[in-house]
Amino acid sequence: MGTAIILKSPREIQIMLEANQIVADTLVMLQKNLTIGMTTMDLDAMAEEFARSRGGIPAFKGYRGFPGSLCVSINEQVVHGIPSSKVILRDGDIVSIDFGVNYKGYFGDSAITIPVGKVGNRVEELIRVTSQSLDKAIEQARVGNRINDISRAVQQHVEKNKFNVVRQFVGHGIGSQLHEPPEIPNYSRTGRTPRLLSGMVLAIEPMVNIGGYQVKVLKDGWTVVTADKSPSAHFEHSVLITDDEPVVLSRRK
Ligand code: MG
Ligand code: MG
Repeated sequence: MGTAIILKSPREIQIMLEANQIVADTLVMLQKNLTIGMTTMDLDAMAEEFARSRGGIPAFKGYRGFPGSLCVSINEQVVHGIPSSKVILRDGDIVSIDFGVNYKGYFGDSAITIPVGKVGNRVEELIRVTSQSLDKAIEQARVGNRINDISRAVQQHVEKNKFNVVRQFVGHGIGSQLHEPPEIPNYSRTGRTPRLLSGMVLAIEPMVNIGGYQVKVLKDGWTVVTADKSPSAHFEHSVLITDDEPVVLSRRK
């Protein structure tokens, strides 16, 4: 993989829109059907069946050996949770669901965090602020801005609300590869970052913790958890830069 940011043609953008709409519709379906008592493996099976019925191939399954179609991360799990028939959704949990598909050779990628039953006030606020921080980042996804304008928008909104952004994992370009340049951190950096150009597609994905920003990876080699075991939320959209408004390819209808 080179370091150049690949600009997409109108034909590629059309396919990526379709790929991302499969992802978006899958997430909406999961949100509608998710109930207390289900396992995270149940969610995985529903997602895979739904996406395949629409012509999408789950992108994460087999990616560097990841075993699931979904990344399902509960409570203090940040990202990359492995679906399991032993993990039961309980009242008061939050569940972050990240899904990607390959459709006609191009990728879609999006994530949401869903409360299960009744969650605490601060956790509800965490979900709201994380989702808002993604909206504020998308607002900066414009020609003339730089990657760091996106990063800064996330960090400012999150820290204003006394939460913390994860540093160790970042967003990314997306196209014929699931992960393409550039990296899109959720915190501001010094130094020059790439300028945004029409035709770029960026997967912007704030990961936000109630406690400290530090995370660690569990012994399964995948599951990322907060170091202090505080709850974490994750939202992601695949966004097209245009000469006009940003286009959220993974927008949920
Ligand atoms: Mg994702
Ligand atoms: Mg992603």
